[in-house]
Amino acid sequence: MKILIVEDETKTGDYLKQGLTEAGFVTDLARDGWEGLELARARPYDLLILDVMLPGLDGWQVLDGLRRAGRDTPVLFLTARDAVADRVKGLELGADDYLVKPFAFAELLARVRSLTRRGRAGIEPTVLRVADLELDLLRRRASRAGERIDLTAKEFALLELLMRRQGEVLPRSLIASQVWDMNFDSDTNVIDVAVRRLRAKVDDGFEPKLIHTVRGMGYVLEAVA
Ligand code: CA
Repeated sequence: MKILIVEDETKTGDYLKQGLTEAGFVTDLARDGWEGLELARARPYDLLILDVMLPGLDGWQVLDGLRRAGRDTPVLFLTARDAVADRVKGLELGADDYLVKPFAFAELLARVRSLTRRGRAGIEPTVLRVADLELDLLRRRASRAGERIDLTAKEFALLELLMRRQGEVLPRSLIASQVWDMNFDSDTNVIDVAVRRLRAKVDDGFEPKLIHTVRGMGYVLEAVA
């Protein structure tokens, strides 16, 4: 799950990025409206968290630009203003939800989870399963044959991507774009190292092996008998 945060206040932006990363989301952070709109139009995000008062374009203009570009990415607005008129304006422009600052992080996380589920047409399973491997997206837990597997946030995001697209060979470039943020240098072997660590946790001591390398192409998760 990939989230774009558009927030000019350094403290709030960093706090959101850190909290959401710890909760297992992949995040990009834009510091003004222009950058936010450019990223939101160019890259696939599951959710936008959009501050209203921004330099360059304000939050309304970013949302308007995004919808005009035909993108229906869910949008959660953050604002210090609690005016009813603002709230109505946001919803009219096609915002999906609205949170007034200051807010508790738990409240934000609940909205984020609800919006990212809604974005997938409401048929989103909360537990992914392949063979005896289970990934519980709500409790953020993985297990194999009933045994708990401890994953880092990055490993969780990687496994979620591989399981959602099981049977599909995923090139490194796609994995990089979905699991790492925009500052990631995909020329490094970071992905290979991460997959190797994940594979050791998921496959060592279990059969069948689930995570496979497809030479020259990428990685695939599937249960091959
Ligand atoms: Ca602001």
